[in-house]
Amino acid sequence: MSALLDTYAAWPFELDHGRNDVVVSADGVAYTDWYGGHCVTLTGHCHPHVVGAIKAQADKLLFYSAAAKLSIRERAADALIAHLAGAGVERVFFCNSGAEANENALKMALKATGRKRIACFEGGWHGRTLLALSATDDPKIVAPFAPFLVPATQLPFNDIGALLATNFSDIAAVIVEPIQSMSGIRTASSAWWQTLRARTAAAGTWLIIDEIQTGLGRVGASSASLLMGIKPEAMTLAKGLASGMPIGATLFSASAASTIRQGDLGSTFGGGPLAMAALIATLEVIADEDLIERAARTGALLKAQLPGAAVASVLGEGMLLGLRTHEPGASLKKHLYDRRMLVGASGDPHVLRLMPPLTISDDAVAALTSAINELGA
Ligand code: PLP
Repeated sequence: MSALLDTYAAWPFELDHGRNDVVVSADGVAYTDWYGGHCVTLTGHCHPHVVGAIKAQADKLLFYSAAAKLSIRERAADALIAHLAGAGVERVFFCNSGAEANENALKMALKATGRKRIACFEGGWHGRTLLALSATDDPKIVAPFAPFLVPATQLPFNDIGALLATNFSDIAAVIVEPIQSMSGIRTASSAWWQTLRARTAAAGTWLIIDEIQTGLGRVGASSASLLMGIKPEAMTLAKGLASGMPIGATLFSASAASTIRQGDLGSTFGGGPLAMAALIATLEVIADEDLIERAARTGALLKAQLPGAAVASVLGEGMLLGLRTHEPGASLKKHLYDRRMLVGASGDPHVLRLMPPLTISDDAVAALTSAINELGA
């Protein structure tokens, strides 16, 4: 037995390598990766431009912390803000993971407002660190650690009445995913988002939008906030931001950033040069290959093609989709696995998730469609 702690239920094969939308097991079986390495491989596995940028940077400087000024770190921050033009965020702090990005956003809101409570939503998922966990609705991973350092009010999602009935004046921040992924690709109405923004703004409460799954192009826009016309105090990114190099980012509006002082945030590895090189290359690939447009187009195609005998409806946007199944999703997941296609489960037993590279090929789309439609034949 390996010394590695056994905390994950992994695929039943050993993975050896990957290229674009395909991963290959140690015994040579190729699978189409609709799971996207856990919603990470935005540009596909081992995109040559990203790999080349990482190699070139590794030859130049493998690491230096933020104790040293590095032009690549500043260029990465500028490129990211430019990519998100119109989303209302202007300054960036780099860290190493999604949970850390959320932790930083929540901490800065607690400090800026002087309040001692946060709010979150039923079905939300924000990470495994204690502050992120306190805002997460997943009893099996949350219950053993309660009560938390910072109390969290959990509100129903997509319920305008509940927003109107909540007094936000003692709440430092509300944290929310644009599309609740883990709990089953759940979305809210535009009117709900507008009400949430108006209520939090009126109370001086920060709105933190967790775009760790939805950000950068996956939903067919450079961010879901932009698609919804909502400008937050803070936005968090991780997952595909550097095509698989560990990274997280907390982005702040100009007014939120003005409350942050030197020493308020820190991270040894955050903003390391390898992750920065991968981030810049990732943004270049997204632009050069029109991946945002491609995500929107592929998503629309699947929404039109997949409903039928096995799939009741397709939820979500772009390349963050939920297949609502008539029967429990596990049997469709197995059917697809047997045809060498990897898809994700969710907290809803009737929703399977697709979160592939935005570069997923037309052949893969056709193969998935025919494998699912086979079930109606
Ligand atoms: N927020 C969302 C929406 C997530 O899906 C995840 C991870 O799945 C996280 C935060 C936490 O990210 P990480 O695992 O990088 O800490």
